[in-house]
Amino acid sequence: MSIARWSETLISTLRDDPQDAEIPSHKLMVRAGLIRKLSGGLYTFMPLGCKALRRVEAIVRQEMDRAGALEILMPALQPREIWEQSGRYDIMGDVMFKLQDRQKRELALGPTHEEVVTLLAAAELKSYRQLPRTLYQIQTKFRDEIRPRFGLMRAKEFIMKDAYSFDRSWDAADESYRKMYEAYLRAFARCGLRVKVVEADTGAMGGQWSHEFMVLADSGEDGIVECDACAYAANLERAERAFPELEPYPDSDKAPEQVSTPNAKTIGQVAAFLKCPPERLIKTLIYNVDGRTVAILAPGDRDVNEHKLARALEARDLALADDETIAAATGGPVGFSGPIGLTIPVYADTALKGLRGAVTGANRVDTHVLNVDLDRDAAIEAWHDICFAENDDRCPRCAAGKLREKRGIEVGHVFKLGTKYTEAFSARFLDEDGQSEAMIMGCYGIGVTRTLQSVIEQSHDEKGIVWPMSIAPYPVAILNLTPGKPDCVEATQTLARELDEAGLDVLIDDRDERPGVKFADADLLGFPIRVVVSERSLAGGNVEIKLRTEKATPVIEKDNAALKIRQIYQDSIKALIL
Ligand code: ATP
Ligand code: MG
Repeated sequence: MSIARWSETLISTLRDDPQDAEIPSHKLMVRAGLIRKLSGGLYTFMPLGCKALRRVEAIVRQEMDRAGALEILMPALQPREIWEQSGRYDIMGDVMFKLQDRQKRELALGPTHEEVVTLLAAAELKSYRQLPRTLYQIQTKFRDEIRPRFGLMRAKEFIMKDAYSFDRSWDAADESYRKMYEAYLRAFARCGLRVKVVEADTGAMGGQWSHEFMVLADSGEDGIVECDACAYAANLERAERAFPELEPYPDSDKAPEQVSTPNAKTIGQVAAFLKCPPERLIKTLIYNVDGRTVAILAPGDRDVNEHKLARALEARDLALADDETIAAATGGPVGFSGPIGLTIPVYADTALKGLRGAVTGANRVDTHVLNVDLDRDAAIEAWHDICFAENDDRCPRCAAGKLREKRGIEVGHVFKLGTKYTEAFSARFLDEDGQSEAMIMGCYGIGVTRTLQSVIEQSHDEKGIVWPMSIAPYPVAILNLTPGKPDCVEATQTLARELDEAGLDVLIDDRDERPGVKFADADLLGFPIRVVVSERSLAGGNVEIKLRTEKATPVIEKDNAALKIRQIYQDSIKALIL
């Protein structure tokens, strides 16, 4: 493959953490000199970072090709009209970078490519004989993130592998989805990454269902839950929960009774004032949903999950109402809303079903109602699971297990989209009977740059990066401790040449530095195999081989070293294949 000499490359390691880096992988990428910041959310890949990135890309490309997907490359610049045609121009909002050409035509820098690829499919895929087809690209995406941070994790410009499948039937679309799902598992495993697959919200993408591939990490921006007894796992945005039977409260049969609760506004204040547990309180929130005003009821100790609420109400647009709307809809001030007597539609969280003896607002200042039985006292339009799942909730699938909250980094996302885009762009084909049908679509993304950094987030120690063999910039580093000695130079070069001929990339540390500096840098840079050539070991005809993951530094006869290293390399690459 290739031999590089430290003295001829551009590797700048830093002793101290960069000031703006909050998480280990970001600190390490900068300290190891893999990336350099241009400005917020914009990074240059330095030579070693670039090598690792290309390895991740190569693995992803191989797994896409293996799954039968076809590589294309679409323009990053996209005309505004296609976003209007799909109805996503407004939904994307400020995330999309917008610009004009010299003719004042409006363009966007692609944050994703459903629109472009569906137009392409509409023009190129005309007959059932051409289906299924999955098209993919590995390309730079642009998103004006509200909070770019954590280095490559949330950048304004990043590399994504995006794939799109087109099928003639729902069953065939399921098969395309399954193939991508499996290709993702293989690709992440080959990158040395352990991922957890979770059920996910479809959000702005639309569509039927989706899964996210998560790297569990404390620094993860996504909350997920997993069942401690079965395979259920989901993003908090959509995680469901089971609803155990409610124990009735002692005074649950009494008639509703208004009580004065002066200066008690928050759930905590009301609960303390009335000396009742917060879960006995019912929160009433007034929302604007697609132009109508509705009341949402939730247990006092739970937060409403707006992703779940939007799905349950099939809403496009949803936001908490302002004070005036609340006053008009309930007749009372903010903070004292309650369901009794409301004329707007009332939706309640399923956990409240059957709850008697509850406390709600009275739609009057400083007043609450006791002994509320929702079935008896309020008109509930529908019951939905609309609150966040929490630690210790019962699993919605097996009911036996408990849910556990974890943090995750989303490295990949697969969606079954259905016909949302193919209808919008008339991407239709003729079936065997000559009937015109909309193609069924799926879309599939891997954050390639985020994946690279996630590997480091998952695989490092106090000394530095611990690269998996498959994506290390150099799987082998040879540290020549006495570069002034011809014997050592000769032994180093011979070994490097043998490894190069065997197809391994090798970095020679030929710097005139103290051994301690070389060891520390090798650990920081995380080369999986470190070979030390020194006068002392050479005198015995040996070199020293140390794996980054092991403590031992066994010596091995110098003439057998290449064979041994090749074996270690091949074994660990094989171990990553599912
Ligand atoms: P997030 O929820 O993290 O903002 P997303 O759901 O908007 O991501 P997708 O549209 O599903 O992202 O994009 C596919 C993949 O691209 C994601 O799974 C993620 O790995 C990666 N990705 C998305 N946004 C960024 C970003 N700003 N920087 C780096 N990678 C990103
Ligand atoms: Mg996503």
